[in-house]
Amino acid sequence: MPLRMERSNPNRSYQVVIIGGGPAGLTAGLYCARSRLSTLLIEKGIIGGQITNAERVENYPGFPQGISGIDLGRLIHEQATGYGLETLLAEVTKVEPSPRHNLVSTSEGDFVAEAVIIASGSQFRKMGVPGEDTFVGKGVSYCATCDGPLFKGKTVAVIGGGDSAITEALYLTKFASSVKVIHRRSQLRASKIFQERALAERKIEFIWDTVVTGIEGDGVIRQLMLKNTKNAKMSTLEVAGVFVAIGSEPNSAQWRGLLPLDEGGYIITNELMETKIPGIFAAGDVRHNSARQAITAAGDGATAAISAERFLSL
Ligand code: NDP
Repeated sequence: MPLRMERSNPNRSYQVVIIGGGPAGLTAGLYCARSRLSTLLIEKGIIGGQITNAERVENYPGFPQGISGIDLGRLIHEQATGYGLETLLAEVTKVEPSPRHNLVSTSEGDFVAEAVIIASGSQFRKMGVPGEDTFVGKGVSYCATCDGPLFKGKTVAVIGGGDSAITEALYLTKFASSVKVIHRRSQLRASKIFQERALAERKIEFIWDTVVTGIEGDGVIRQLMLKNTKNAKMSTLEVAGVFVAIGSEPNSAQWRGLLPLDEGGYIITNELMETKIPGIFAAGDVRHNSARQAITAAGDGATAAISAERFLSL
């Protein structure tokens, strides 16, 4: 279907442009491409998105032995490109919504899209304490799968009490001599199955009701400054590394002022993944009320694609 391109001089035009290559974006791409819509998926980092940090995904249906996050992303990508999905490694710098002529500017040029599916996911939340930025790559990490092997035989800390923190801690026991899980409360948020595994793991020790107030070192991390949240007592903990796993924040900054966001910055959609702007859809972790699971993101992606197809047929 030809598109008018008078708004700029874009390189190319597509019926659908998908922003983000995690499970939501890839599944949207699979559905759009299979529906014979000309579709471009733009990813700035790694195909698979945050799921690539998961050493083993155990709760994606169809893989009774589990599957590595990298393989899951690769397989969905292979399936989608097999139906004609085009993918581009580039950063989306701006989107100018306009009915059926949305201009998507990227580091690799401009594109016009009749419909846009935002599946830009989320990024790791930082603690925001002194030393955190200084020691990134020198002991501070947000990905145990990536950096865990660097800490063979050493003591590391994991910050957080959710599924991410506990799965990271369990993974790190393969390498580290001791894993200290530091959580701001005395109760974990993580799923029961992960809690049971972590509580039974002799290398894991929990430090409850505690937050990190600073990270100190001399070129590499030496110690964490800790504060007890109940009695305000300060202490230090010697570690070689710290893995921060305290949740994530949506990659939605460029939509502020264009689309309604919730108080956390997540994009508000209806159950059809439609945003306030016709022809612009959102799916996966970037969306308000997402369950933030690979499978629900994939479901969102499928729904967004079906909605986009309906929109394009109007
Ligand atoms: P969550 O939001 O579930 O948990 C974040 C944790 O970090 C909470 O324990 C929270 O404490 C703590 N926290 C938040 N902010 C701070 C802060 N500033 N300082 C200290 N602690 C803080 O995030 P996750 O990344 O763990 O999980 C996100 C989603 O991904 C969930 O839906 C989870 O189920 C899913 N997931 C699933 C996995 C799987 O099934 N294999 C693996 C990993 C994630 P508090 O509890 O006090 O709020």
